Amino acid sequence: MNEVKAPLRCVVLGCGVVGTEVVRRLLEHDADLAARAGARIELAGIGVRSADTARDPVVPKDLLSEDLEGLVDSADIVVELMGGIEPAKGLILRALEQGASVVTANKELLAEAGPELQEAADANSGSLLYEAAVAGAVPVVRGIRESLAGDRITKILGIVNGTTNYILDQMTTTGADFDDALADAQILGYAEADPTADVDGLDAGAKAAILASLAFHTRVYASDVPTEGIRQITADDIAAAKSTGSVVKLLAIAESFNGSIAVRVHPALVPADHPLATVSDAYNAVFIEAEAAGTLMFYGPGAGGKPTAGAVLGDIVDIARGQVIGGRAPAGSTYAQLPVIESGLVPSRYHMRLTVADRPGVLSELSSVVASHGVSIETVRQTPGDDGKAGLIIVTYSASQAALDAILADLWNMDAVEEVISVMRVEGN
Ligand code: NAP
Repeated sequence: MNEVKAPLRCVVLGCGVVGTEVVRRLLEHDADLAARAGARIELAGIGVRSADTARDPVVPKDLLSEDLEGLVDSADIVVELMGGIEPAKGLILRALEQGASVVTANKELLAEAGPELQEAADANSGSLLYEAAVAGAVPVVRGIRESLAGDRITKILGIVNGTTNYILDQMTTTGADFDDALADAQILGYAEADPTADVDGLDAGAKAAILASLAFHTRVYASDVPTEGIRQITADDIAAAKSTGSVVKLLAIAESFNGSIAVRVHPALVPADHPLATVSDAYNAVFIEAEAAGTLMFYGPGAGGKPTAGAVLGDIVDIARGQVIGGRAPAGSTYAQLPVIESGLVPSRYHMRLTVADRPGVLSELSSVVASHGVSIETVRQTPGDDGKAGLIIVTYSASQAALDAILADLWNMDAVEEVISVMRVEGN
């Protein structure tokens, strides 16, 4: 006869959008989860700021508590779904130091203190899992940490923020400008009233740091990731991208370069036939280039209570399985200790949009300027304008940031150049 294992005490800290769905699934799928984990996962408490707040009827009132430390002290598994740095960090460390294991969806905290939390888990033989912290339901954390553990990842390109993908997708499909697409995203609940973290690339920057740490077995913090958001993208930029067979996407990028890594977030042009170009609406996708596997793309819903709860539950079951057999869930490693270099040192293709004088010889003058900095032009497109002016789109082959800056300085000094309207990197070729 199989030995009957004691139930594992699981507490959920935070009962908002994600926490409520985690509670629902823990209660409604109790028997299945027990069968999969090898022991019952008992929901022992739910930590909240205010136990008096009206909540979904699925949340048992008698399990609500404002004493989060008390809950942590009684738990085998702590599920942190509050967000923010404190008190989440202190509670997670407290749990780990007592030998409990932790599941969190808190990208902000992981991007600031992930290595410190992992060290606390290691020191106390506990587990720290965070599938939901990057791209919600998309199993990319596990994919990188486990399925690709024997490979060498060379580059990651991620659409990891659903709000900005929705906005850019609306701008592409309807011709809307940024403000209208943002207002639309807010009405649909894809964007917060204060959209800063999303539209300025900060949320994607935190996720880029987490993905880069995992993929390159090193420590990358949010503060290592330069971020540029999408506020400055205009309907004309989108139309110009279309005219060169591309779409604009906000990308979280991490790549190895000469024994170092570069990590960054910025809008970029992606060729329309690249898999990332097909990621529409508020979906997320992470495109990975690896030495052995070649290219892979992980795709799916990147946010929302239910999808995110699905990823959290997967981590809970993994930890429970480990606890049943006296083992730990797999952890990433940081042995490589790679330097994080400035992204400008990594050459890139660039897409430049200019207004120039519409007269003979201008194209050859421009080509000479670009060539004088050792950069070749891939394509040039001219569009007729008014008042003796013309629009120009130049796409370069690979160039360093320094070469690009020198080209731009020279272009601004040319009589024939009226304006350099925008410059964007081209990725995914
Ligand atoms: P949320 O709806 O704002 O819920 C937060 C919950 O945490 C609330 O129940 C709140 O309690 C509780 N809480 C916050 N600060 C607290 C404190 N100091 N003490 C006690 N309780 C506190 O947040 P969410 O959208 O569920 O997100 C939770 C986490 O998941 C965040 O780290 C977020 O980044 C991550 N995440 C969310 C999504 C998503 O789609 N929402 C997707 C991926 C990852 P009260 O109810 O009493 O106010």
